[in-house]
Amino acid sequence: MSRTAIRVSAVIGLALVWPFAMGIASEANGADDSFRLLKLNGHHVKWGDRALGVGATVRYAFVDAPRRFDGARNCRVLVPLEGLAAGHGIALSTLEDEAAAAFRVWEEAADISFDRVDDPERADILIGAQGRPVGRAYANVQYQPGSHDGVKAIDQALICLNPQQRWKVGFDGDTDVYDIRYTLVHEIGHAIGLDHPSPSGQVMSFRYSEQYRDLQPGDFRGVQLLYGASPRTMTADTSSDPSGEDAGELPGAGVDDGSGPIQLDLRSEDHRAGCRFLAMSSC
Ligand SMILES: [Zn+2]
Repeated sequence: MSRTAIRVSAVIGLALVWPFAMGIASEANGADDSFRLLKLNGHHVKWGDRALGVGATVRYAFVDAPRRFDGARNCRVLVPLEGLAAGHGIALSTLEDEAAAAFRVWEEAADISFDRVDDPERADILIGAQGRPVGRAYANVQYQPGSHDGVKAIDQALICLNPQQRWKVGFDGDTDVYDIRYTLVHEIGHAIGLDHPSPSGQVMSFRYSEQYRDLQPGDFRGVQLLYGASPRTMTADTSSDPSGEDAGELPGAGVDDGSGPIQLDLRSEDHRAGCRFLAMSSC
């Protein structure tokens, strides 16, 4: 993925985005297979070609030194995960394995592949701990200027975890302590173009849950609408039809507003008291 000089920075404030996005995306009707495509500045966003249903390959890395992203709304300072891991008695290798497993969840669901690279400079998605701890976890998505058929190309995504929160590996029924893998699956979902469809019922729902580990029907439908079905399994629900009703909600063809950086300001969405900084919440 090429980097552009001009970045369009947008935020997945997670619970922040949810009320903002109400009514603008696909199939978010609260049904068991509901999903919602992320819509930023009036456009859907995805990796790879700016066309729904077309697959992509994405590189990810863990930051190896503190990094600042002054244009980002979230994850402005990323630091290595060593401190978070050590603080919770989790081996760094375990944490990295959990992240790899989280990426595999999406790989197995749709035609999107993730390759880990060591050099953060070469990565499309960067993962780290928050240098300025707040909330639980965030994702931040930057997209390139220009669009095609209402779709913009994601340029870079950040995922950050709060090292001061308690974390665990695996479910134990205590929903006050989030499982690393489940949280990362959810954040990766944002980083590849999905929003919250509903409070609960899908992995992309904003409430943390330990009722299921795997993607739910709506998660499958959403990611397959963006990238197509996975060539690895082809057994998942492939009923999403880019030519159908979902696509009909996209802005008109040929929209291109690549006139410069746009900073979405979602501060006005910070009205969900108690939830405002959470990726997934119990509120
Ligand atoms: Zn979220």
